Amino acid sequence: PSTIGILGGGQLGRMLALEARRSGYRVAVFTDEPPGCPAGQFADVEINAAYDDTAALERFLAQVDVVTAEFENIPDACLQAVEAVKPLRPGRKAIYTTQHREREKLFLRENGIACAGFRIVETLEQLETAVAELGRPCVIKTAAFGYDGKGQAKVNTDTDLATAWQPFEGHHAVVEQWIPFVCEVSVVGARSVDGRMAVHGVVENQHAHHILDVSLAPARVSPEIAEQALELWEAVATGLEYVGTMAVELFVTAEGRVLVNEVAPRPHNSGHYTIDACVTNQFQQQMRAICGLSLGDPTQHTPAVMVNLLGDVWPSEHVHPDWSPILGHPRAKLHLYGKASARAKRKMGHYTVLGDSLDEALDSVTQLRTRY
Ligand code: ATP
Ligand code: MG
Ligand code: MG
Repeated sequence: PSTIGILGGGQLGRMLALEARRSGYRVAVFTDEPPGCPAGQFADVEINAAYDDTAALERFLAQVDVVTAEFENIPDACLQAVEAVKPLRPGRKAIYTTQHREREKLFLRENGIACAGFRIVETLEQLETAVAELGRPCVIKTAAFGYDGKGQAKVNTDTDLATAWQPFEGHHAVVEQWIPFVCEVSVVGARSVDGRMAVHGVVENQHAHHILDVSLAPARVSPEIAEQALELWEAVATGLEYVGTMAVELFVTAEGRVLVNEVAPRPHNSGHYTIDACVTNQFQQQMRAICGLSLGDPTQHTPAVMVNLLGDVWPSEHVHPDWSPILGHPRAKLHLYGKASARAKRKMGHYTVLGDSLDEALDSVTQLRTRY
């Protein structure tokens, strides 16, 4: 293929576009965001329209040779329209399954992939039964459109279920057991058209306010834990007949078990360290996979810590922080996403700090974080 089509206009599409153009591809972006969005800034063609605008979608499809998505909440009718005329990678099965928590959990169960105990509920009565069976604490999660912990309610010992259910009334929800994890990890990797897999190592993730804050690579887990995590990634990728870059978020329990939390059918925030610390990064792998090429070497060559930059650290909407501490650090790499304005909790960029050891990178991050 010579033109890669990307559904979605955010930073994940931007970083794919950069990688694709470096390798000589043309890029067309279809997004419901306004012109000049992060991905559009590096696209040869940017079409700004709603995902149900069939005329605009036809114009997009006429110009591309292969299509991928940089976020999962694409209406199914759009996925079907794409798949009818051009290769969609990953395919509709992978995106349709993982864009909806209920379908995703049922997929995990059907494929015998370890995850927290769960129930699907549609009414308060079903919630009461589910909570009685699963035990407290547990957590209610909306089946559709949840991210950054939005659409979730924890059920503690003293939580009144009728009150907790109110925001979910009229919707499908997943209730799952609360996992007192010792740490959260993720695995990012790619699967090619011919079913070969290349997985970056296991990454350790720390969240703040339900948003990824810092990723440590490699994760500080035993080889047994790492092995389980990589096996779970492979089981998910194989089960979804996946083509492209995919991430699996996981919980590690005190008993040494690894459970799948959720699946992202795309590159992942916790994989951004691969740009600076791996032989082949997650976006280059995505590009290769969707274009039917062989995958690159995913090996990590240097320990790294990635820090997310949220709009919260911007002095005001249009004024950037002073980046000189990060720019002045010999082993820090700053990445900004070109977003027009900074808002609280908005992902504006990230930086990765390399170290001779993970501890050295962590020390650098601790110092840098006091300085912007
Ligand atoms: P995103 O898609 O942005 O990663 P999300 O809204 O889909 O987030 P989850 O990943 O389901 O949310 O949950 C967000 C965080 O809440 C998890 O990373 C974890 O820290 C915590 N969490 C979620 N479910 C559980 C659980 N069953 N037990 C313990 N902690 C949980
Ligand atoms: Mg999610
Ligand atoms: Mg998550």
